[in-house]
Amino acid sequence: MRGTVYKSTGSWYSVKTEEGVFYNCRIKGKFRIKGIKSTNPIAVGDLVEFHLEEIGDEIVGVISHIEDRKNYIIRKSVNLSKQTHIIAANLDQVFLLITLNNPTTFTSFIDRFLVTSEAYDIPVILLFNKMDIYDADEMVEVNYLINLYRDVGYECIEIEAKGGFNIDKVKEHMIGKTSMFSGHSGVGKSTLINALEPGLELKTTEISEQHLQGQHTTTFAEMYDLSFDARIIDTPGIKGFGIVDMEKDEIGDYFPEFFKLKSECKFNNCLHLDEPKCAIKRALEENTISWSRYRSYVQMLTGEEENYRMDNYK
Ligand code: GDP
Ligand code: ZN
Repeated sequence: MRGTVYKSTGSWYSVKTEEGVFYNCRIKGKFRIKGIKSTNPIAVGDLVEFHLEEIGDEIVGVISHIEDRKNYIIRKSVNLSKQTHIIAANLDQVFLLITLNNPTTFTSFIDRFLVTSEAYDIPVILLFNKMDIYDADEMVEVNYLINLYRDVGYECIEIEAKGGFNIDKVKEHMIGKTSMFSGHSGVGKSTLINALEPGLELKTTEISEQHLQGQHTTTFAEMYDLSFDARIIDTPGIKGFGIVDMEKDEIGDYFPEFFKLKSECKFNNCLHLDEPKCAIKRALEENTISWSRYRSYVQMLTGEEENYRMDNYK
């Protein structure tokens, strides 16, 4: 049988078959996946094959195979620093909620998120929330950001999670897909999810920031079916979008507008810093690449502000 992992507790997996039946499954013996040093071999979102076995007086699913992942997000394991923990696999997209203020979402944070998603190979949709709270000056600023990211090629949607504005647009993007929602605490994730699917209680809302600080056990992601042929993966207590080890010379490739131009740089190993005849620097001077994107790039390259506002982010 074939199914998708909806929940994992570390030793048990809740797997849903294509017919819509849930089975409790486990894995036998050591289950290693090539190239991944992970504390958990199977994660929410994984597609697995399993068969039923009678163990004691219980019928249990035994997972025999895991299909190649199209992507996955990881974080460093809490206790074993060299190992990673796979939070979720096979995501179709992630929505990043952004507010100009209450709370402030800085462009350096957005750009870091986008770079990580590019590295993970997960499409991002930017949701500019709380469009009802901005005054005229703030509106100019928000629209500037929206245009900036649209120009780079990212889908941007203005929404009001509370008032319901453009929730149907978000829904449209979710149909037939598995999505995740991210953004600073207070940006409106719970409100949005509640608007999308009233009554769905996610754990995200139950775990307080305070509680998380002292928490050393691993929390596990969980997948939920929504009523309109969409799935979301909730990652309670997981701050950040995980980690990606990146070489200095690949960071620029995750800025799509830089990547497009890089073949025009004089040096093929150009880091777009002080090298002569750099196409990215030229585009900056000509205002076809945004300074804020370039600033974020330099910050990432030089490792400045490594934990920049990460504390507010879950
Ligand atoms: P979360 O921490 O990301 O889950 O954020 P919440 O969903 O708890 O929202 C934080 C606060 O922002 C709550 O008081 C919401 O009512 C409010 N909020 C969410 N969306 C909107 C919106 O579109 N407009 C306004 N004015 N407030 C909103
Ligand atoms: Zn260059």
